[in-house]
Amino acid sequence: MKPELRVDIAIIGGGIAGLWLLNRLRRSGYSALLFEKHHLGGEQSVKSQGIIHGGTKYALNGVLTQAANAIADMPARWQDSLEGHGEVDLGSARILSRHHYMWSRGRLASRMTTFFASKALRGRVADVPAEERPEAFRNPAFKGNLYALNELVLDVPSVIQALARPYSGTFIQADFSAPGSLRREGEGFALEPVPGTVIHARRVITTAGEGTEQLLVNHGLKGPAMQRRPLHMAMVCAQNLPPVYAHCIGTGSKPVVTITTHFLPDGRKVWYLGGQLAEDGVEADTGTLIERARKLLNDLLPWISLDGAQWSTLRINRAEPRQSTLTRPDSAFMAAEGPLMVCWPTKLALSPNLADEVLKQLREEEVFPATPQPDLHLHDLPAPLMSPTPWEEAFAS
Ligand SMILES: Cc1cc2nc3c(=O)[nH]c(=O)nc-3n(C[C@H](O)[C@H](O)[C@H](O)COP(=O)(O)OP(=O)(O)OC[C@H]3O[C@@H](n4cnc5c(N)ncnc54)[C@H](O)[C@@H]3O)c2cc1C
Repeated sequence: MKPELRVDIAIIGGGIAGLWLLNRLRRSGYSALLFEKHHLGGEQSVKSQGIIHGGTKYALNGVLTQAANAIADMPARWQDSLEGHGEVDLGSARILSRHHYMWSRGRLASRMTTFFASKALRGRVADVPAEERPEAFRNPAFKGNLYALNELVLDVPSVIQALARPYSGTFIQADFSAPGSLRREGEGFALEPVPGTVIHARRVITTAGEGTEQLLVNHGLKGPAMQRRPLHMAMVCAQNLPPVYAHCIGTGSKPVVTITTHFLPDGRKVWYLGGQLAEDGVEADTGTLIERARKLLNDLLPWISLDGAQWSTLRINRAEPRQSTLTRPDSAFMAAEGPLMVCWPTKLALSPNLADEVLKQLREEEVFPATPQPDLHLHDLPAPLMSPTPWEEAFAS
């Protein structure tokens, strides 16, 4: 006889969105299983910079946009979870920096310093006095402004582990690309993660990032259109890099470069370089991007030696609901199509917001917890492993 399982919710995709949602659903009493085709930690999630944005980078043109406001609550919700009294338990996750910073190479125009000091940004941005600057900005050659943002930077792999740990018997390695592996059945769906095992779910939620588009097509499912916004990130690795977590701001509305620092098991450090450098770098080949990144860092932080450093780059797409102008969506996205919910958080930081939207939708549809959590240990199903980090893959010694 075929083993059959029943569950309230099946989640497809084991990045930050799927894992945060799994925690919220299980804590709300729903039974849930999570299916992941490769690794827990996802594609974009483990390759992100780990900044829990509060929206300040969306205010670089001197205006508080809707995006800046939608995301403003997120740092406090993550902070509560990191302290162990939030909606999920991130007590074992590692904080890389208590603040993300923002610096300018020269003195900023008074219009901007007035804006950053304004009431609208109070609590989000603070001027950092010289004696409190992080090491990388203590050199006398630094002549710009430096602000601390009310934004944490997290080690994403440790966040993934913290979210996965309480639910170890809940993950199944499965790729739903095969026709027939996901089909409508009565009020819900039947899933066949491996041939011969059928799982009946009242709702299916896709948090499959870039994989969502193909998933919908393969199963003839109606759903919202997706957009990809590509990035070409640069990485530089050396033993002696001082930790930097900061946007460098210029005259444009986006940071010239965003630097975060990550650690290899042997103690070497990696600066991961995003922002405008990575957006413009999409058109560049690896060698050209590395040359641009090297020049930019020499120009912005000339007192930090990069002699003997190793370089690498990484191409990755951000997957989001399609916008009319290929711009960034402002908040987490969820669309319900019958018993299917299609989700993109659009930002790691917005995962709590996405889980709110899903729980609200379930309540509105009167889908309440009804099925006991199945015991996967009784079934011989493969489980996904944790994602390696991009810096481990690039600089493994
Ligand atoms: C370079 C970069 C830096 C970023 N930095 C930040 C930042 O600092 N702060 C921030 O808030 N946001 C940041 N973001 C955005 C953030 O990373 C994403 O919004 C978020 O990680 C998306 O999470 P996700 O779980 O939806 O997708 P993913 O992490 O991509 O996970 C999707 C998962 O679904 C799985 N999957 C796909 N198809 C299938 C299938 N058919 N069957 C089963 N599983 C499937 C994939 O294997 C993957 O594991 C960054 C993004 C990038 C690319």
